Amino acid sequence: MPKYVYDFAEGNKDLKDLLGGKGANLAEMTNLGLPVPPGFTITTEACRAYLLSGTQPEGLEAEITTHLAALEAKMGKRLGQSDDPLLVSVRSGAKHSMPGMMETVLNIGLNDQSVRGLAAQSGSERFAFDSYRRLIQMYGKTVLGIDGEHFAHVLDEAKRAKDTTNDLDLDAEDLRKLVETFKEVIVEHAGRPFPQEPREQMDLAIRAVFESWNTDRAVIYRRQERIPTDLGTAVNVCSMVFGNLGMDSGTGVAFTRDSASGAQGIYGDYLQNAQGEDVVAGIRNTMQLGDLEKIDEKSYHQLLQIMQTLEEHYRDLCDIEFTIERGKLWMLQTRVGKRTAAAAFRIALQLTDQGLITMDEAVSRVSGAQLAHLMFPRFDDSVGRAHGAQRIAVGIAASPGAAVGKVVFDSYTAVKWSRSGESVILVRRETNPDDLNGMIAAAGILTSRGGKTSHAAVVARGMGKTCVCGVEAIDVDTKKRILRASSHGKAIEIHEGDVISIDGTSGEVFLGEVPVVASPVVRYFEGDEDALQDELVAAVDRVMRHADGTRRMSVRANADTPEDAARARRFGAQGIGLCRTEHMFLGERRVLVERLILADTDAEREGALAELLPLQRDDFTGILEAMDGLPVTIRLLDPPLHEFLPDITELSVRVAVAEARGEPRENDLRLLQAVHQMHEQNPMLGLRGVRLGVVIPGLFQMQSRAILEAAAARINAGGVPRVEIMVPLVANVQEFETVKLDIIQVARDVRAETGVHLEFLIGTMIELPRAALTADQIAEPAEFFSFGTNDLTQTTWGFSRDDVEGAFFSAYLEKGIFGISPFESIDVDGVGELIRIAVEKGRSRRPSLKLGVCGEHGGDPDSVHFFEKVGLDYVSCSPFRVPIARLEAGRSVVPD
Ligand code: ADP
Ligand code: MG
Ligand code: MG
Repeated sequence: MPKYVYDFAEGNKDLKDLLGGKGANLAEMTNLGLPVPPGFTITTEACRAYLLSGTQPEGLEAEITTHLAALEAKMGKRLGQSDDPLLVSVRSGAKHSMPGMMETVLNIGLNDQSVRGLAAQSGSERFAFDSYRRLIQMYGKTVLGIDGEHFAHVLDEAKRAKDTTNDLDLDAEDLRKLVETFKEVIVEHAGRPFPQEPREQMDLAIRAVFESWNTDRAVIYRRQERIPTDLGTAVNVCSMVFGNLGMDSGTGVAFTRDSASGAQGIYGDYLQNAQGEDVVAGIRNTMQLGDLEKIDEKSYHQLLQIMQTLEEHYRDLCDIEFTIERGKLWMLQTRVGKRTAAAAFRIALQLTDQGLITMDEAVSRVSGAQLAHLMFPRFDDSVGRAHGAQRIAVGIAASPGAAVGKVVFDSYTAVKWSRSGESVILVRRETNPDDLNGMIAAAGILTSRGGKTSHAAVVARGMGKTCVCGVEAIDVDTKKRILRASSHGKAIEIHEGDVISIDGTSGEVFLGEVPVVASPVVRYFEGDEDALQDELVAAVDRVMRHADGTRRMSVRANADTPEDAARARRFGAQGIGLCRTEHMFLGERRVLVERLILADTDAEREGALAELLPLQRDDFTGILEAMDGLPVTIRLLDPPLHEFLPDITELSVRVAVAEARGEPRENDLRLLQAVHQMHEQNPMLGLRGVRLGVVIPGLFQMQSRAILEAAAARINAGGVPRVEIMVPLVANVQEFETVKLDIIQVARDVRAETGVHLEFLIGTMIELPRAALTADQIAEPAEFFSFGTNDLTQTTWGFSRDDVEGAFFSAYLEKGIFGISPFESIDVDGVGELIRIAVEKGRSRRPSLKLGVCGEHGGDPDSVHFFEKVGLDYVSCSPFRVPIARLEAGRSVVPD
């Protein structure tokens, strides 16, 4: 039988899978000799067993009994003992911290008798009844599932009766009455009385924690954070310490560094005479951690000492929950803290410079997603903030970034509007876990209450979402859907749908749209040396250098124009992995394409192609020049030709109108016939890619000629063009061979005509399952493969992206059929397996085969790690994502 329960002294920080993050770190702190109230942890394995069967696994109850008995012996009192009760908290704690996701019940063991014992022992009746009312409240909400509003309402009434908003103004008698009313609330809403038996309280709370793993908001959070659904949560049973014993007691949170900037210092909040979540729930105004020194110097200095110990021990930013009970400091939680993207980079380098971590570790501690976040535009300082927008308030800068959007007051509207493409700012008095969906959908979050550690702030930072919180100068009326503020002494009302801008770096809130500028990190990538003055940019620079020096794969860009190619190169691209040619058939060139399609005779067709040739040659010359010396993979025309023809309805109308006027237009008529003729039921699976090259005489030859003539011209101009001609949508080797022969003939001709010796590669895209499965055959004539993972995903799954994303993806994501869209991150088991097979088969026939990927997955962090694993030579992605791919390619080879 597995061991289901571990004493805090038995675990350690590396047992997160089994003990959850909270339990593992409580154990670690216990073993470091820090003052942690004794307790034990029930494993995630027990939770999984419980969730599978719906009952406690065999042996769990007995094990809990043994550990509880040991705890009671240690503390010298029994759980709920009438004259001197041992009280415990039952706390959830999964492997990954899920802030506010799962609930905790404090003060378990109190009942109508033991509350008197607690009063006598502590000498404070007020404290005893305050603890009891908290227990009933939390128990009712968490274990019995009663809407917390019912309790909050009663509490508010009690305060109102005393004409106060401060819970400290309630005296023992008020709290005793509150306990009675709370008990009535329980009977009314749960249909049963509050359980008086301490062990029953504990057992039911443990069960409730197990079950909280599957609440909607936990499921949503996991999906957002890509946390697996089957891990389960551990449960910690921890003896209580009391911050609500008077003004010499209190509870607080602390960070070893500023989680928004990374700066070292004293960061945190403290609240006197309070318990548990009070400090983050914003019930009273907290004091800054630094001020604790004035109230309780001894505890303050001990806390600073512990913070340093923890940071050196974890070698990272830690966040901490602590409680002071009548002058004695207790540690209740620590973990490696969440941080903003900017802080992640700064901290990684600061720790490196302090000698705590290596550069490899520094690289592994930042992510491509964080780098992407740093590349978002900022509000433009220089044009004056008030430019067209007026500043209406300043709050707490909780999570950096600039967000502009329409005001919405609830999650539902946030989701609905953002689905229809609107950028929205979710405005709430404060957020709670039920707002999660809206927070995910919103561009930014604005609250009128709560500090840097409020739910909104913590969750927003975790998501990398812009957030301004605690804007006390605004009044949020979610019922009337109005945000009231004042500007230049004048009261203003902002309604749902009005545009506001929020700055998560300064805390400013603007009415209207504030213009944005490129981030300094982007300016650095663009080659602006001055940007390096900025500490953050310098940190990014060092991380990027190390990643570049470490990675095995190279990184190329998907770029179709000389401008894109040049930018990609500045961003560190080592070539072009995909240069599409379809845009070269658009605009004024459409007429030529129409002539090509309508050609009745060889001469007409050749005429059209001959006119396209010099235009394309110029396009290629520009791109090869921008990428001089680096490989450029050019894809021959891929989309179906009818995509270049006018829209069928538009054309029909034109023809009909002309006929009605009695002046029929010959050309339009022919065009309409052609459009009808070429119409396809499933264009994605129709006449496109290599199939065009096979059936449209001269088309691929013209393109190849344009490419090779451009290369010859570059050589004559002293350049070093490295051309790779890529044939799309190949399914079988004969298709490829047919086209390849044509290209080789063209190359011979161009060599003869120009006298320039040309070297280039001819390869193919692998974007059909058949191509992957016959990759050994295709590798014989093909010199390189480039995985077109967008089409490969479509053809493997048998759905077209444009048709399905709107139709059923959200249902699939909701039901957990997809963890994440296979268009966003490579489907390792299916599409990934085809890639693996193609790599293996291709290399077996041609060991020198060059392998890359040019689908959008080339810039997706998780996918990049997969491509490293299967041994591709390079990834290619959009120019803007090149730095992200460089970083992730580096991270994919440094040890974790
Ligand atoms: P969360 O995961 O939401 O942080 P916790 O289990 O840490 O939940 O508990 C919620 C609050 O209760 C925290 O402020 C925590 O410090 C406090 N708390 C938990 N256990 C105890 C205890 N044994 N004594 C005093 N306070 C506690
Ligand atoms: Mg906690
Ligand atoms: Mg394709």
